[in-house]
Amino acid sequence: MNIIPTEQEVVSILRETGALRDGHFLYPSGLHSNEYLQVPLAMRYYQYQKTLSVGLSRLLRANPEIRAIVNELSIVTPMTGGLPVAYGVTEALRANQVYWAERQADEPLHFRQYLEQHEGEQVVLVDDILRTGKNLSELKGLLESHGATVVGLAVVIYQPTPDTFDFGNLPLYYLAKLDASYYADAEHCELCRQGTPIEKVCF
Ligand SMILES: [Zn+2]
Repeated sequence: MNIIPTEQEVVSILRETGALRDGHFLYPSGLHSNEYLQVPLAMRYYQYQKTLSVGLSRLLRANPEIRAIVNELSIVTPMTGGLPVAYGVTEALRANQVYWAERQADEPLHFRQYLEQHEGEQVVLVDDILRTGKNLSELKGLLESHGATVVGLAVVIYQPTPDTFDFGNLPLYYLAKLDASYYADAEHCELCRQGTPIEKVCF
């Protein structure tokens, strides 16, 4: 496998490990979809975690502005699902530090006590997947409110939905883009119409 895995190689890792499934799924948002993806299922296998996070680090390193500040960079992930990729990217880049935010129930994202940003801290946001971008945009706002500067966003999988957050000019890196079919509700769902049994999923 190459240093940066191809989209096809990434998808075959996801399928082989059960991280990517075909079917008929009901998302927590109420959307119906023909695909379900749970990247941590692929991250169970150390070699795959390595392949995916080293690949992503290569994409980041190819950006001259990021490469120039790589030793000062903070790699920050919004939730625990992003930890394997965040640590892998940090190790491969030899970035300065890696940390994560947390959320209790419906509270806003927050960092652990005494985990503080310094003025001018440069951050790359990392996660296993960019779907709606809700957590990542909240994390970006939280970091910026503490004086940090977000210089890039890197995810293993980019799976946009009809309401994915717009990150504007922020450089976005991903190893594979997956286009699932989304249906607003049962009435508009092709799979419902065909009578395919539906499975309720969460993230
Ligand atoms: Zn349906």
